This record gives sequence, structure tokens and C-alpha cells, in this order.
Amino acid sequence: MDLNKKDYDAIVVGSGPNGLAAAITMQQAGLSILLVEGRETIGGGMRSAELSLPHFVHDVCSAVYPLAACSPFFKTLPLEKHGLEFINPPIAAAHPFDDGTAAALCRSIEQTAKSLGEDEQSYTKLMKPIAHDWPRIIADVLAPLHFPTHPFEMVRFGLKALTSARHLSKIFHSKKAKGLWAGMTAHSIQPLSNAATSATGLVLMSAAHNDGWPVAKGGSQSIANALGSYFLSLGGTIETNFYVDSLNKLPSAHAILFDVTPKQLLQIAGYKFSSIYKWQLNRYRYGMGVFKIDWALDGPIPFIASECKQAGTIHLGNTFEEIADSEQKTSEGKHPEKPFVLLVQQSLFDSSRAPRGKHTAWAYCHVPNGSTTDMTVQIENQVERFAPGFRDRVMGRHVMNTAEIEEYNPNYIGGDIIGGIMDLGQLFTRPGLRLSPYKTSAKGIYMCSSSTPPGGGVHGMCGYHAAKRALKEVFNKKASIIY
Ligand SMILES: Cc1cc2nc3c(=O)[nH]c(=O)nc-3n(C[C@H](O)[C@H](O)[C@H](O)COP(=O)(O)OP(=O)(O)OC[C@H]3O[C@@H](n4cnc5c(N)ncnc54)[C@H](O)[C@@H]3O)c2cc1C
Repeated sequence: MDLNKKDYDAIVVGSGPNGLAAAITMQQAGLSILLVEGRETIGGGMRSAELSLPHFVHDVCSAVYPLAACSPFFKTLPLEKHGLEFINPPIAAAHPFDDGTAAALCRSIEQTAKSLGEDEQSYTKLMKPIAHDWPRIIADVLAPLHFPTHPFEMVRFGLKALTSARHLSKIFHSKKAKGLWAGMTAHSIQPLSNAATSATGLVLMSAAHNDGWPVAKGGSQSIANALGSYFLSLGGTIETNFYVDSLNKLPSAHAILFDVTPKQLLQIAGYKFSSIYKWQLNRYRYGMGVFKIDWALDGPIPFIASECKQAGTIHLGNTFEEIADSEQKTSEGKHPEKPFVLLVQQSLFDSSRAPRGKHTAWAYCHVPNGSTTDMTVQIENQVERFAPGFRDRVMGRHVMNTAEIEEYNPNYIGGDIIGGIMDLGQLFTRPGLRLSPYKTSAKGIYMCSSSTPPGGGVHGMCGYHAAKRALKEVFNKKASIIY
């Protein structure tokens, strides 16, 4: 180890949830850390802004936080003291159908199961053991491959999680349960016939039954601000408007952790890597992109189903077959007429988002990677389908296609919001099959973004695990890991 005097012990490039988690973990170990961010504010996928009209606060990227609320690392941090308040809507997610009814994912397993009619028993049988085990297995689930701390519970989870959403849907018989399941598993951003798509559904539903699916009071920027404020309180240093396109730009340090994806890392530091590692990064695969809309509304969305009026998140896609078809077509490069739409209505539960009596809503659908097709009409048709009169309430809208999303944040390659497809081939081996996914082939250079395990979402666990690795290898610090 080179212990000559350097400007900083370590530098983290990029201030998304993973960059912030990495910087905090290393600063907590008593090192001197510089966190640099290319944009004018920190946060990555956790920023908010008045995108549509003045005084309407929108979440530019992420909006709902099942994984942040249950993140084993975030749970150890005093984020409330640094201004973060999560608000849990009475219903985590609702799933309306064409007949005016809806399924509801609630904190209570019993209440959720009841909303599924004839599948009450099947839902309880599936979710009760996993949701019960969840507090013990979450740190094993949101981690790189390792021997689990709770092997029996992990096997029970894994046997179901590794199946395809389509396969596991066969335990349900009703349109309601199958539809709810399709909406949950479609967060995997893949065809629902792919292996391991059940994992996403089980994780999101277990999270709902334990910590809920909250929105962040005041906007998602408040999560970034709380993490940043805590990091500064530990003595860390942040520099914004500092875009890194070459290692030469950085002050000297013993370690550099990159909160970027393989494509960018190759451009910045590729010349330092072994040919095998470069080959691995070049083979890394990105998945579907998203087309996103934020609305300023002059009233709440007039959903027909009453459950939707109490839910933070709404899944618009009707039946399992319709959602599966939409995801399949999109993965084949097509733009479905009736795309599966994920919608969040933050202002119903957080009055700070819009002027009195007015509202905000956020939605996206999946599109082929790199698509520049405008999906506004298709998305709004899906909202109107379950909430007639919705369009009349739109006062302003802001849209982003995949190119605009990537321009906003270079980590969203082709509009892929989870740092690379999370199919079976890349779930555990992102960014490549290696002893440690965080360590690159160059001494002192690490990757800590969602392109490493456990992947996409706001939870900070990629950054946490990457930092623990660097602490052990570069700084010889004993790394006790949360499992
Ligand atoms: C539209 C959308 C909706 C989403 N919805 C949700 C949701 O509801 N819930 C959820 O949990 N997740 C959601 N996500 C996903 C989530 O935002 C990401 O998985 C998460 O932010 C990834 O964190 P990260 O730290 O790996 O990277 P990012 O959050 O992408 O942060 C990377 C940071 O690095 C900076 N950066 C990149 N390159 C450089 C460079 N060369 N020099 C300096 N700085 C650089 C970027 O500017 C950025 O600030 C959504 C994402 C999008 C885009």
C-alpha cells in the first residue's frame, strides 16, 4: 500500500445514493474523503425540481422508496436529524382494472390478501413466510454473492425468487392477483418470462409489508440533502460542477470509487485496466429505457377505484397478459399502444409539492433502449382509462425521452435507469464475473454504482459494499459488514 501523503485518502466520483453511501462509509472509518459530482447539485437519481410550472415540485428521477426505507445501511444513519422525512401513504400500491375494481398492496398482508378475493389464501401462503423473514434476510438479499447469514430463510426466498414471474403467477387464479403480481414484477424491466423476475416482485412486496413504500417529504432531493449533510457533518468534502472525464483531473488519493456504469468507466480509466477486465466491461449489457412524464394538475387524479385514491403508487396495465405483452414487445424494440405505466401521486400525501388544492403526478413507461419516441399520448391514455377526466386536470407537463434522461444523468445509458439489465446473467455478476464485483483490475480503482450488486434502486448498498471492500484492501481496515 502506498501511504505517501496524498490530497485525500479516497475520492468518490458521482453523488447518487451509491456514491453518497460509499463516501459516508469511508468517512465513518476516519478517512479523508472527497466526493465530486458533475452536476450543480448532489443526488444522482434523487433530485427534485420545478419541472412543469413554478411551485410544483417534481421528482426528476426516483419517486418512491421501498428499498431506501428498508436499506440496512440507510437504517444505521441519523437521516431524520439531517432533515429526511418519509411519508407512507395508507396503501403502498394500487392496481386498477377495467371493471372499476382494484387490487391493493398494503402494509398488512391480511388486508392485501383480502383485496385479492379468491386468491386470499394463495397470497398469504406465498408472502407470509417471506415477509416474516424479510428483516433477517434483507442484508443478504441486498449484497454481493456470499454465504448467507440466514441460509434456511435465504433458500426459502431464493427458490421462489429465481423463477420467472410468469411461472410463479400460476399459483394465482384470479385476474386481480395475477395483475398485481405482473405490476410488481414488471419493475424488473424485462420480459416476465425471464428467470428471476419473481425476485423483484417478492422484494417489493416484502418491503411493502415491512417498511412501506414511502415518498420523501419535500421531494427526493431531501434524501440526497440528508445524506450529504450527514457526510459533511463527519468532516467529508463535496465539490459539485466537477465532471470527471479523465483521471488526471482528480487530486491525488489512495483509492477512487466510481459511481458510474461500465461504459463511462472505460472512457475515464480504461487505459489502466487489464485486457480481460476491459473485455468484461465492453460485454456489459444495458436494458430497456424509460419515457417519463411529470404533471402539474388542478386536482387529484379522478381514479374510479377508491383504493387508487389512497395509494402512493399506481400500476396501470390491467391484466397479467396485457402487462407481460407490453414488456415483451418493448424488449423486442417495439412501442406498445397500451404500455405498462408506473405512476406516483406524491402531492396527495405531501402538501409541500404543489400550491393549495393543486397536485403533482409522476409516471413512466418502459421503451426500447435509446428510443426517442414520444409516449405522452399512450401514457395519458392509460391514465384516462382508469381515471376518466384526468386530461382535463392537466395544467402543465414535462416529458423526458431516453436521450434527455441520459443527458440529465450520464449513468442512464440509453434511458436504462438501473445501470444495466438485471437479468439472471447480470444479477450477481455485474459488471462481470469476478471475485469482487467492486474491484477493478487497476490498483485502488473501484466501481460503486448500481452496475454492481445488488443493482438498481435507491438503497445505497452498492456503495456501502464497494467502500467496505476498498477499506479492507487499500486501507487495511477491518470490515465488519451488515448482514
Ligand atoms: C425516471 C427514473 C425513475 C426511477 N424511479 C425509482 C424509484 O421510484 N425508486 C427507486 O428506488 N429507484 C428509482 N430509480 C432508479 C434509481 O434512481 C437508480 O437506481 C439510482 O439512483 C442509482 O444510484 P447510483 O448511485 O448508482 O447512480 P445515480 O443515482 O445515477 O448517480 C450517479 C451520479 O454520478 C454523477 N456522475 C456520473 N458520471 C460522472 C462523472 N464522470 N463525473 C462526475 N459525476 C458523474 C451523475 O451526475 C449522478 O449524480 C429511477 C430512476 C429514474 C431515472
